Amino acid sequence: MSLLLTLLLPVSVLASLGAFAWARASGGSMELAVLGTSLVTLGTALWLERRHPYHPDWNRPRGDAATDWLSFAVLAGAVQPLLKWGSPLVVLAVYQWTGKPAGFLSGQPFAVQLLAVALLAELGKYWVHRWHHSVPALWWLHALHHGSERLYTLNNFRVHPLEYAIKHTLSLLPLMWWGVPADVLLGYVALTQPVQMLQHANLPLRHGWLNHVFSTNALHRWHHSGLRHEGDCNFGSALVVWDKVFGTYRPAGQQAPARIGLYSVGSYPANQPFFRQVLSMFQPACCRT
Ligand SMILES: [Zn+2]
Ligand SMILES: [Zn+2]
Repeated sequence: MSLLLTLLLPVSVLASLGAFAWARASGGSMELAVLGTSLVTLGTALWLERRHPYHPDWNRPRGDAATDWLSFAVLAGAVQPLLKWGSPLVVLAVYQWTGKPAGFLSGQPFAVQLLAVALLAELGKYWVHRWHHSVPALWWLHALHHGSERLYTLNNFRVHPLEYAIKHTLSLLPLMWWGVPADVLLGYVALTQPVQMLQHANLPLRHGWLNHVFSTNALHRWHHSGLRHEGDCNFGSALVVWDKVFGTYRPAGQQAPARIGLYSVGSYPANQPFFRQVLSMFQPACCRT
């Protein structure tokens, strides 16, 4: 079991990149390859959580399971397909104003393009996430994600649809506008999606030096601390490079936060059903944190 807990993250990342590279070379569907390996990672995490949890009490629902599943359904069934369909149309519309740029690192090796895209996309996601913690209106949106008082795999999909769209618009859309080829963007997804599938896992995964590369569940646990001075750290989406650069990296260490949850509740309806939380931003009490 300890070998599985040590190898789950690196093997998942390598399997995802391998499946992507195979599909790209053979003319297969790169999207299906990445989706398939992500689902295997997700399923393995959900299965392992029942058998070897980091915190057994986090396996017990606290009236939050319906919110987590509904959020998952809305993101996977509506928000993501809408963004996938609408993003190219938005980019084409913006081209009417700005003209089409020369192309992103055209002529460079695929690995160089992939590395550059990973760094830029993660930079956008890092700052969007950090702003969601410092701007009251954005914190209100982000509170849905931090409202859970336990950490387990499904928390990964507990995200306000508007927050999801904002993050997409400010991190990936500029790269699409810049002419980043679709396979490079998918390569970035292949690299980072396994990390995100495991980021909230209730598992005692052993990451070692990978804690200095990926935003692992051990690091992300600190980010979900119910104490602000502990939680204002580790904003990285899948990589920790920008936390290191901007001084917000907190090592995993031997300890873990004493309490998981919101550190600034204000009038946010944290215990209300999913749709009440989602729509609360349109109500007068919004953003009074
Ligand atoms: Zn956060
Ligand atoms: Zn999180």
